[in-house]
Amino acid sequence: MKKSESPQKNTIDLQIKSPAIPSSAFRGSARHSRLVCAELARLYPDSTCALNYRDLFELIVATILSAQCTDKRVNIVTKSLFERYPSAATLAAADPAELERIIFSTGFYKAKAKNLISMAQGLMDHHQGQVPETLESLTKLAGVGRKTANVVLGVGRGITSGIVVDTHVTRLSQRLGLTRQSSAVAIERDLVKALPKADWVLISLRMIDHGRAVCKAGRPACSRCELVRICPRIGVENLALKSIPKRASKPLASKSADEPDLGSHDVIKP
Ligand code: SF4
Repeated sequence: MKKSESPQKNTIDLQIKSPAIPSSAFRGSARHSRLVCAELARLYPDSTCALNYRDLFELIVATILSAQCTDKRVNIVTKSLFERYPSAATLAAADPAELERIIFSTGFYKAKAKNLISMAQGLMDHHQGQVPETLESLTKLAGVGRKTANVVLGVGRGITSGIVVDTHVTRLSQRLGLTRQSSAVAIERDLVKALPKADWVLISLRMIDHGRAVCKAGRPACSRCELVRICPRIGVENLALKSIPKRASKPLASKSADEPDLGSHDVIKP
């Protein structure tokens, strides 16, 4: 998408009263999912993970930190974090209070610090300090759910074990009629069923890019969205109308561009 394009006023969005194609025709259809996938590939041919990392250890740490936090913030924090703790061994022996101070600005810092240390200890105890490369082994580590494991394997190793479902993927999958589900696991199941394995890694990254640029949580810019002709816009009209004040035509409050990224669906275990 052209970054120079400025978001349209919400009033223009609301002029699109109904999707070009009835929503019922598309929900759960593998053909529709593949069409959306192809269009996203055309729009975002170069999508990549926005987290900065040099190896799998740094990727797993950054992904755990990205829960309920922006990638931008995580990248700021990990710069000093990886200098202080460059390996599983150093992180496993970290002083919790010092680690909490370093990662404080990513939110949930106490739980994240505890999980990071436990995760690193798990790597030392069971994997010789290395990040394992199976979904089963990864999800046994503290703070690592399916989403984090899928990021590590898909983005870090190019191993397609599943589809990363974060807050953007959840929202777009629902609006675009790719799923009726609301839980990350069920959404992933629908996407995996409909899409070829070769698309599993990039579909998430592309939906995340589209979610950030156009299909934002509080204010989807349907009027300038290149998917509008194939998007049933499930729930969008209701969301927009609900947000419009009765007596005034103020623009909708737009959600911060800094909404949480990749990690937002993995459980932060206390
Ligand atoms: S911005 Fe509108 S048309 Fe585009 S994907 Fe989102 S809901 Fe669909």
